[in-house]
Amino acid sequence: MPELPEVETTLRGIEPHIQGQLITNVILRRPDLRFPLPIDLESIITGQHIVSLSRRAKYLLLHLETGTLILHLGMSGKLKIISRNYQPSKHDHVDIWFKNGKGLTFNDPRRFGALLWTETAPEQHPLLASLGPEPLTKAFNGIYLWQRAQGRKTSIKNFIMDSHTVAGVGNIYAAEALFLAGIRPQKAAGKVTRDDYDQLADAIKKILKQAIKKGGTTLRDFLDPNGATGYFSIELNVYGRGGEPCFQCGRRLKSDVIGQRSTVYCAHCQR
Ligand SMILES: [Zn+2]
Repeated sequence: MPELPEVETTLRGIEPHIQGQLITNVILRRPDLRFPLPIDLESIITGQHIVSLSRRAKYLLLHLETGTLILHLGMSGKLKIISRNYQPSKHDHVDIWFKNGKGLTFNDPRRFGALLWTETAPEQHPLLASLGPEPLTKAFNGIYLWQRAQGRKTSIKNFIMDSHTVAGVGNIYAAEALFLAGIRPQKAAGKVTRDDYDQLADAIKKILKQAIKKGGTTLRDFLDPNGATGYFSIELNVYGRGGEPCFQCGRRLKSDVIGQRSTVYCAHCQR
């Protein structure tokens, strides 16, 4: 599943090809993805320029002249930059073509992705309105987490994966951040100390930045129609390593299921 760093890398990958470009036509190959596709999309957006691009949580926002396209990659979606001689592949559901001869295609085999059009402020869209702060901003820090966690009995792992707490911290990054911060994933969010929340906020930022930096090296994939962008190879301390030795203390890592997601942690290094 594309996580925040993959979405940020997608944004940086497509931006130089489509920013400022005039939309000349749109091809819709099916009526829906996770939600119905805007049926009159072509007539709405043809003739408009892509004014700018931005990201909110795992949503990509393409700002046009009269509104915003909101894209979500779902479980398996990816965006590719294509050129005129490109032959559509099986799961290319939407193409947006530009005057410069390039196109943007939305490929999504599992079709959990979304493409929506809004003419009001995108941050007020129902999908985005209740999202917590962006993890890489100053608004996201230890004191924010600590205040928000007061009295909360939910596990710290579920708490930081809740998009109302912070936008876009998925399973891998949550598990890795908790290891770096030395916090056991099952611990009640309301019992984590103020100091530990400082460590945790720093760890989340560090891991996401590391992954985005790694993602920069895959940017060329956006020009290769067959190029795949998978998970970035950040150094994983715990994720997927249940039963293997902890890199810090050498003891066997444990596995537990929290909120229906498998979680690996070190019972010695995480308290
Ligand atoms: Zn350990």
